[in-house]
Amino acid sequence: MTEHPQRHEHRGCVPVRRGPSPFLDGDPERERLRPAADRRTFLKVAGAGGAGLLFSAAPGAETAVAAPRTWNRAYVLVVDGCRPDEIDSGLMPNLKALRSSGTTYPAARSLPVMETIPNHVMMMTGVRPDRNGVPANSFFDRALGEERTLDRPGDLKASTLLWWARKHGMTSGTVLSKEYLYGIFGRQATYRWEPRPIVPISGHAPDSFTMDATLSIVERFDPHLVFVNLGDVDRVGHTDLTGGLSLEVLRRTALVTTDLQVGRFVQMLRTTGRWEKSIVVVLADHSMDWSLPHRVISLTRPLAADPFLAGKVEIAQNGGANLLYWTGPASQRQAGVDRMVAIARAQRGVLGVYDRAKVQRQLRLGPEAGDVVVYCQAGWRFSDPNVLSNPIPGNHGHPPTAPIPFFVSGGHPIVRPGSSPLPATTVDVTPTVAKFLGLPFPTGRQAWEGQARI
Ligand SMILES: [Zn+2]
Ligand SMILES: [Zn+2]
Repeated sequence: MTEHPQRHEHRGCVPVRRGPSPFLDGDPERERLRPAADRRTFLKVAGAGGAGLLFSAAPGAETAVAAPRTWNRAYVLVVDGCRPDEIDSGLMPNLKALRSSGTTYPAARSLPVMETIPNHVMMMTGVRPDRNGVPANSFFDRALGEERTLDRPGDLKASTLLWWARKHGMTSGTVLSKEYLYGIFGRQATYRWEPRPIVPISGHAPDSFTMDATLSIVERFDPHLVFVNLGDVDRVGHTDLTGGLSLEVLRRTALVTTDLQVGRFVQMLRTTGRWEKSIVVVLADHSMDWSLPHRVISLTRPLAADPFLAGKVEIAQNGGANLLYWTGPASQRQAGVDRMVAIARAQRGVLGVYDRAKVQRQLRLGPEAGDVVVYCQAGWRFSDPNVLSNPIPGNHGHPPTAPIPFFVSGGHPIVRPGSSPLPATTVDVTPTVAKFLGLPFPTGRQAWEGQARI
């Protein structure tokens, strides 16, 4: 197995960087270097705090005056990594009030792999990873011969709701706080926040800046649909291991401050008269599990110790899920997969091991997810290539992190207070928003898989 210690500080939720940052793509100075037909428009807007906010836009977007197809507006707020019980913790009064005024789905689940990029992609494509090409945060790129983050616009194989809305005469916006989300969604939306500042290492913008940009994009451009990722709640679980504060205190602080940002958003909708014509879909992409220091699974050594597998396996680490790739001769693939399954099953702390092709109908992960999918148990984590590679206790990607908050709120009369036992999932976001905006549903091979939850 190849090892890149200088580049693999931590894998899973935190990006494995390959090549230039996608943020360089948002540098207006570099835009001059592009072919004219490929250039974007950059729009500078004064933010709430007086700071300049930078948006990029589809060509002509700033002058386009489209006929108002509908007065309805849909906002999707992702509280990254939030557990459903945290909304009841007493620390999130704004989210709790928003949930009470809408329909909540207590049985809601994130879908495999329970990581950030795949679940955001499922939200905006309405289809599972075997159709959209994005099953994980990190995968082994067989063409490149190395592990990398799935953050390139070309990785996305299905069309998005952001684009579908544009195709039908509406406008869309993205305010994505994480470097790799900005990367994968590329130019899908009519208006895209060029996020900054970015916290080093974690690769995300703090929620206060993300919310400044959200308020600006709504008030300045008024898109029919805006897709927002608030990254702080997730990020405190991954990066803050030092200092005098305990993880719990940091987590609680993030819940409070993120909730305040959601409060700002609702206040803006009310004061600008948007509340009555809006739905606000709030959900998480996955929740969070906390592992104990000694509960670490490292698969590199046992796999490399097997004479048949040695040098013929690659691992893509996705927090609580490890993806294993057979790189030996194709004629020996099944034998290799069977060995990997047997060895992974024998490790302490492993929850489940799957020959991906054999359980395709359940997992719905495409070939990018490799040959074998391994989940850890609650309270454990993977650490490869060795037991010290992943020092971070906060973890997701495995089934214990599937329960998520999911509710459809807002002031539009279609919103009804209540609770539904239906098993809402991240693929439901696209049909829910499309139904509300009156967009047609694609049919046949392009059909969405989720259900409208209004
Ligand atoms: Zn995370
Ligand atoms: Zn996430």
